[in-house]
Amino acid sequence: MAESCEHIKGLTADNFPPPKTPDACEECLVEGSRWVSLRECQSCGHVGCCDSSPRKHATKHFHDTHHPVMRALPPANWTWCYLHEITGSLGQPTAAQK
Ligand SMILES: [Zn+2]
Ligand SMILES: [Zn+2]
Ligand SMILES: [Zn+2]
Repeated sequence: MAESCEHIKGLTADNFPPPKTPDACEECLVEGSRWVSLRECQSCGHVGCCDSSPRKHATKHFHDTHHPVMRALPPANWTWCYLHEITGSLGQPTAAQK
């Protein structure tokens, strides 16, 4: 049995705070680097760049803060738990993957 993730179960867009930097990766703005796509932290509203981006600030944010859950920005239904490495969908129960 795969471990189930309680972090992203039953989340909706209402569970996310307003993004601190809605159109940008906070650290890339400071560093002047570029990003591919953005991820918003559910715990604090931090916006970082995805793992396809050179600097991977969303993953770095997880390592720094241990905030486990983020979603795609601009808001999509896609969520991700770093601890369990499971994807979920906002507003729907999370089906266990394999
Ligand atoms: Zn989890
Ligand atoms: Zn970045
Ligand atoms: Zn955070």
